[in-house]
Amino acid sequence: MLLAGEVKGELARIHPARNCCRRAELAGLLYGNRAAGGGVRTLDHATARTAMHLATSIGLRATTPPGIASTQQGSVRVRHHLQVRLEPAAPPPWHWGQSAACDRRSFLRGVLLGSASLSLGAGGPHIEFVFSTARDAAALHRRLAESGVRAARLLRRDRHVLYLKGQEEVATLLRLVGANRALLDFETARVGRDVRNRVNRLLNAEEANLARTVRAADRQLQAIAELASTGRLERLPRGLREAAAQRRAHPDADLDALATGLGIGRSAVNHRLRRLIEMAEAAS
Ligand SMILES: [Zn+2]
Repeated sequence: MLLAGEVKGELARIHPARNCCRRAELAGLLYGNRAAGGGVRTLDHATARTAMHLATSIGLRATTPPGIASTQQGSVRVRHHLQVRLEPAAPPPWHWGQSAACDRRSFLRGVLLGSASLSLGAGGPHIEFVFSTARDAAALHRRLAESGVRAARLLRRDRHVLYLKGQEEVATLLRLVGANRALLDFETARVGRDVRNRVNRLLNAEEANLARTVRAADRQLQAIAELASTGRLERLPRGLREAAAQRRAHPDADLDALATGLGIGRSAVNHRLRRLIEMAEAAS
């Protein structure tokens, strides 16, 4: 299973070839994630590198203030946001509504890098976006919906959270943004899980069958013992006596095995064993 950081690493290594896509991805990185004074704020080095790369490739000046990675305060390591400053501070506006599919995908990749937290643990995959305004959460909600990804919103400690829950939605988003390795890993894990579940279901069904066979055999053996103890067994027709003898000889056998031993059909054996039980019950 991939780590969440590896998924972001894969996204960060995707370098769109066209300028339109680069502009869109940078808009995604900046979405709901603006540093004071412009630029991108992030805790993630790969995301900061991507922001630098995208900005310079479309002719913006990008700088990182020095000494921001982390500092040591006593024994506590304090994480600071990495900041990528842009010049001009605001890149030309980008509009979702007028953008081609390639750019919408790039935008979503940017938002995923800049504002999402991923967890792909055993409890199932989870992706959520956290924003400080309802407006950003609502707009992304709509954009995801237009891209075929269903999300839900909630408010957590004054933060506006948009989350995808469910494997289908996570897979759809990973596919859209081009996280192919993550997608493959995710699908492989999912297939493995499905196979395991199916095998478990089969084993459970098998066990249930076995338990039923054993319970039925017990009832038959009891009935046969009762008929024998009262002397009625030997007076029964030959077919029933043979079925009783076969069952006594093979207490654990299933109907098919008994049928083979008697050289008759399965339903005939079943019928005879049922008759034995009925006769024992009628007499008692
Ligand atoms: Zn494009």
